[in-house]
Amino acid sequence: MDTIVPSRTVEQLTAIIDSVPTAVIMVDQRGTIVLVNAQAERLFGYKSVELLGEMIDILVPYRFRAEHPELRARFTKSPQARPMGAGRDLFGLRKDGTEFPIEIGLSPVQTDEGIFVVSAVIDISERKRLESRFRATVEAAPTAMVMIDQVGSIVLVNAETERLFGYDRDELLHQKVEVLVPARFRSAHPELRSRYFAAPEARRMGAGRDLFGVRKDGSEFPIEIGLNPLMTDEGQFVLSAIVDISERAQTKALRQAVEALERSNIELQRFAYVASHDLQTPMRSVASFVELLRSTYADKLDAQANDWIRRIVDSVKNLQTLVRDLLDYSRIDSQTHRFAPVSFQEVFEHAVLLIDASVREMGAELGSGELPVVMGDRSQLVQLLLNLIGNSLKYSGDRPPRIYVSAERIGNEWKFAVKDNGIGIDARHQERIFELFERLHDQRDYPGTGIGLAVCRRVVHRHGGRIWVESEPNQGSVFYFTIPEVTGI
Ligand code: ADP
Repeated sequence: MDTIVPSRTVEQLTAIIDSVPTAVIMVDQRGTIVLVNAQAERLFGYKSVELLGEMIDILVPYRFRAEHPELRARFTKSPQARPMGAGRDLFGLRKDGTEFPIEIGLSPVQTDEGIFVVSAVIDISERKRLESRFRATVEAAPTAMVMIDQVGSIVLVNAETERLFGYDRDELLHQKVEVLVPARFRSAHPELRSRYFAAPEARRMGAGRDLFGVRKDGSEFPIEIGLNPLMTDEGQFVLSAIVDISERAQTKALRQAVEALERSNIELQRFAYVASHDLQTPMRSVASFVELLRSTYADKLDAQANDWIRRIVDSVKNLQTLVRDLLDYSRIDSQTHRFAPVSFQEVFEHAVLLIDASVREMGAELGSGELPVVMGDRSQLVQLLLNLIGNSLKYSGDRPPRIYVSAERIGNEWKFAVKDNGIGIDARHQERIFELFERLHDQRDYPGTGIGLAVCRRVVHRHGGRIWVESEPNQGSVFYFTIPEVTGI
């Protein structure tokens, strides 16, 4: 094989290129290898004698060989120093048949004998490996990640970005990152972006400002952004991690609302408690003075005065009941009794004992099925049952009351029923009777405060259950409530 490179040139060049740390290969116009340095020998696994005089294609993988002469010809036509294969991935072929990714810089060398091409070949396997590891890490990240270059073009997005913003990645790549910024912030963004590039550092974006992203469909959502500068041999990039905080924002708002509610509830309870408590003392003295008035002057006053006194006594009694009920109500949540196993059978018996006088007086029949043990606050459960049975007695109408308390297991809770044969409740009112002060009757027909069922509901809620009524006017009522079953007792 005759080479056309004069030996003088080869000598000079060899001395130079052997000293550079990069693999260098020189070819003539026809593509014949005329010069190979030590690094190139090592890189491709050939001795230089094996390469000299061969076509350069020997170092090109088979699948690219067909197009290579054409590309080479094009370069020699308009030779200028430039990287080879712009936009394409280049590979070298070793003697042992393995391929590896490379980057090639081409420089034409004009000599008396014509143009030679010097190519500097860099093995970029390590860089490619790191890059694909980086891409895989970004892709797998649970947060949206967007990488932009110095002019703000998106160069990389991950799956989470597609999901969060509703775009396919092809729609985002090469777009300006402002496409993800709501229109009202968009014009200010490039300025902020270049300021960041001027002094890049890892930090949160928009400290103190609320940030928003905009989806493909135009909807906005609150976000938090972490910025991370990446210096590569291709220049400066910024990788941003974007977290959708709508849920966090919602949870935060919700939590604040709940806290505020709880605070005001506690305040309200304190107030109700103190107010009712404070009312009790003067009322007790009014009651006893009126009682004194009645007993001392009963026979000395006329019928009119006696009637007034009776009315005062009644009103004061009503007021006392009201205050006592209110106190009961406001105490329910403030009582800090720990829950313990409570036998509902005993609760029932206790309630019956407390109401025994009325039961006898009204000739009521009161019975129960088998009642379970539940976890709860004993005194509150007595109060619950007492209120329900008390109502069944009170709203019994003309018939002798028949009241039956029972329980059945449904799923993982107990469903209790207090059934009566009383006046019943119109469907329209069946929800509101559980509200505080809601009652359906005139004080004259049925005295009461409208607090009893509100107490019941609060007790049941505190035990993690629900309460409701099924009833029809004149057909009796069944009050149901549930208490979660607790295993292990
Ligand atoms: P109060 O009995 O003091 O009015 P409650 O909160 O205990 O207050 O009851 C609210 C209303 O629900 C009562 O006014 C009554 O109209 C209705 N009610 C409660 N229990 C029964 C019942 N067993 N049968 C019919 N109506 C009832």
